[in-house]
Amino acid sequence: MTERLLMIPGPIEMDPAVLAALARKTISHVDPGFIETFGRALERVRGVFLAPSAQPFVVAGTGTLAMELAAQSLVEPGDAVLVVDTGVFSERMASLLERIGANVTRFSPPLGSGPDLGELERALASGMFRAVTVTHVDTSTGVRAPVREVAALARAHGVISIVDGVCSVGGEELRQDAWGVDVALTASQKALGTPPGLAVLALSANAMERYRARKQRVPSLYLDLGEWLPIMQAYEARKPAYFATPAVNLVSALDVSLGQLLLEGMDVRVARHARMADAFRAGIAALGLSLVAQQGAQSSTISAIYFPAGVDGSLVPAIREEGVVVAGGLLAAIKAQYFRVGHMGLTGASEILTTLAAIERALARVGAKVELGVAVAAAQRTLTNR
Ligand SMILES: *Cc1c(COP(=O)(O)O)cnc(C)c1O
Repeated sequence: MTERLLMIPGPIEMDPAVLAALARKTISHVDPGFIETFGRALERVRGVFLAPSAQPFVVAGTGTLAMELAAQSLVEPGDAVLVVDTGVFSERMASLLERIGANVTRFSPPLGSGPDLGELERALASGMFRAVTVTHVDTSTGVRAPVREVAALARAHGVISIVDGVCSVGGEELRQDAWGVDVALTASQKALGTPPGLAVLALSANAMERYRARKQRVPSLYLDLGEWLPIMQAYEARKPAYFATPAVNLVSALDVSLGQLLLEGMDVRVARHARMADAFRAGIAALGLSLVAQQGAQSSTISAIYFPAGVDGSLVPAIREEGVVVAGGLLAAIKAQYFRVGHMGLTGASEILTTLAAIERALARVGAKVELGVAVAAAQRTLTNR
């Protein structure tokens, strides 16, 4: 088999129609056809984020750029920011905030758990924080944080909420308007199902107001959302505009992909992700393997799985040899003890079963004790409710 199934937490398997948009002739960024495409893509971002009242932004760059755009635009030197720390990407947020000169406090639940909401409320009620950041799904641990509750607490105490949804938007439930999330951000290559290269954000009216109330200018031009605002407004109004050249083909691919997401319907899509994650985890449990994320904090988009006793990182290339690409560990403290499987985007029953079967054969290949078929059977039972 030459084509391996890509089951890492981004980039993911892409729909051929999305890839076809990349191969089309690159047109002018102010061509009426592209203005229509970009305008529609921005409207679709509102749909996917369930944020009709928010201001969408699509900027060339990765998820990390989306994090920087949010942080640089909304946080000023000396601002106190509470970072809910559930893994590597929360730590990345903390470190980029520190580079701005923010006064960062890490709120660190035990490994594998989400934050204790009572403690979090006490911290936010102190009145000292300007913003709270939370990683919806931390890709290094597979931990899903209770974004709805965190956003509600932030709103109640006048604190801006910044949600890193890079590994969640398009796979996990996110209702930005209804939940009062101030900033939600993601990147193209994860559950949005578009090749890497686009940062996607939506800011609430409250967040835009906070931006306008800044004391100092954003020190970076590219990272100043205020520079991008008239551009996004122009495209949505179907008018030409230029600040920095948009990634024409990627935006076209994003438009196709977001159209597919909305056609499936966000609720249906979120339910499908939950069902596939359940089936996958049933298979993993049947193999006697355990997850980094605790029950109740397990995401629908990615699973982080401890190696069984006697098995090491050689399992990852062994799974690849069996036709499926999965990812190694990422969180420094346990890096050599686990691997990660993304199950988002197009993932359906076939991909789940193919992946579990490859894990079974790879376990056998590295000499682990494994009863072939148990993971597949357990997933099949979940998929058929038997
Ligand atoms: C992947 C990821 C990022 C970083 O995105 P890049 O596109 O690699 O820069 C940030 N946060 C989370 C939760 C992620 O999963």
